[in-house]
This record gives sequence, C-alpha cells and structure tokens, in this order.
Amino acid sequence: MANEQPLTIALSKGRIFEQTMPLLEAAGIRALDDPERSRKLILDTDDPSVKLVIIRASDVPTYVQYGAADLGVAGKDVLLEHGGEGLYEPLDLRIARCRLMVAGKPEAPFAGRPGRRRLRIATKYVKCAERHFAAKGQQVEIIKLYGSMELAPLVGLADLIVDLVESGNTLKANGLVPLEHICDISSRLIVNKASWKMKHARVTALLGALRGAVEGQAAA
Ligand code: ATP
Ligand code: MG
Repeated sequence: MANEQPLTIALSKGRIFEQTMPLLEAAGIRALDDPERSRKLILDTDDPSVKLVIIRASDVPTYVQYGAADLGVAGKDVLLEHGGEGLYEPLDLRIARCRLMVAGKPEAPFAGRPGRRRLRIATKYVKCAERHFAAKGQQVEIIKLYGSMELAPLVGLADLIVDLVESGNTLKANGLVPLEHICDISSRLIVNKASWKMKHARVTALLGALRGAVEGQAAA
C-alpha cells in the first residue's frame, strides 16, 4: 500500500503507547520500533505509508491541530486543557482511564474559612480547576504546577490539588484523600480537520478499524 496517502499518528510514550498499540495492531498497523528502547522520535510501521511520532502527552493536540500529525491519541484531560481547536475527536478509545479529582488532606479546609484567604489549588489542569470551582461559585487561587501535585498540600503550598486519580494509591501514600470527582478521563482519537477532508477515505477506514478494535476489547 506504499502508494497510499501518507498518515502520521502522534502518540506519547508510556501508558498511551502501550495501550494504543494493541488497537492499532487490530487495525493492521504494527510499529517496527519500541519507543521505550529506541531514541527515535519517528517510528516506521509495517505499513510504509503510516508513521508514528512520539511526543509528550500534552503536545499531542498541538501537533494534530497544526497538521504535523494527521491523527493522535490524547487524554481527555489534555484535550480539555488544550481546548480542542482545529481538531475532531471522533472516537473514545477507552484506554488510560482515570478520574480528574479534587484531593487534599483529610482535614483540608473545603469551603474556605470566613475571613481567610481564598483556597489555594495546585494543579497542572488550570482550566479544568478554574471551571470546576467557578461552577460551584467558589473563589480560588490556582497555582500551576507541572508534576508531583501531591506534595503541594504537604508543604503548605496549597490547600487542595486537582489531579488524575486511578487507584488512589499515590494519594494514600502521601496522606491525601479524594474529595470531589470532577470528571471521568479516557484517551481519545483526534484528527486534524484538514486531514479529515483531504485524506477522508484513509482516515475513515482507520477510524472504522479502530472503532471495531475498541468494541472488540470492550466485549472481551
Ligand atoms: P508528561 O510525563 O509528558 O508530563 P503525563 O505525565 O501527563 O505527561 P502520562 O503519565 O503518560 O503523561 O499520561 C498520559 C495520559 O494518560 C494522561 O494525559 C491521562 O489522560 C492518562 N493518565 C495519566 N495518569 C493516569 C493514571 N494514573 N491512570 C490512568 N490514566 C492516566
Ligand atoms: Mg507522567
């Protein structure tokens, strides 16, 4: 199929790569390299017209928005922060599932004490956190962090955090508890809007195959 229109798919290393590959394989696409072992950022597949680009999870929507990749796999958390401009999000891959939650110490001040400064919220998910507390009518101060959010309440940087929770073990290990559920998270297939039009047959064929693979996994 070497004369087919080329397709580039953006993926991040780690759980998204590991959980996307079985779906791509079911759709007939196998990677020829393992990104955990190779330093290559562009991976060939057994289909010469399909390449994978390996980038940071939070950069995936940007590559797809600008058409540097035709398709990508990104967590709903990342998409909510990005805003989804220039993208279609046609398929929930039902992988990398977790919950976006408010967490804190068990005795965390939750409603904000009278006369006290606003609650401080440490998070990587600034937009989601702002939206969540605004919807509750709660005035908060958001502190943007890039990782290890669990530390913030322990050292007095913040009253609460907004973070992804899977098993709750990381919270527990740091003496924190989940306090409020904001939304469920899973990874989505995203498609560049121009690629959707210009490579419509290829993109919809892959979308159909992936949809079948997701349904097959759900039934298994
Ligand atoms: P980076 O390491 O580049 O800062 P990241 O830490 O967000 O990015 P990953 O840890 O690989 O990258 O997470 C990728 C995606 O997987 C997240 O955007 C989220 O959708 C999902 N995810 C993150 N943590 C969990 C978890 N504990 N359980 C399930 N899914 C998760
Ligand atoms: Mg990480």
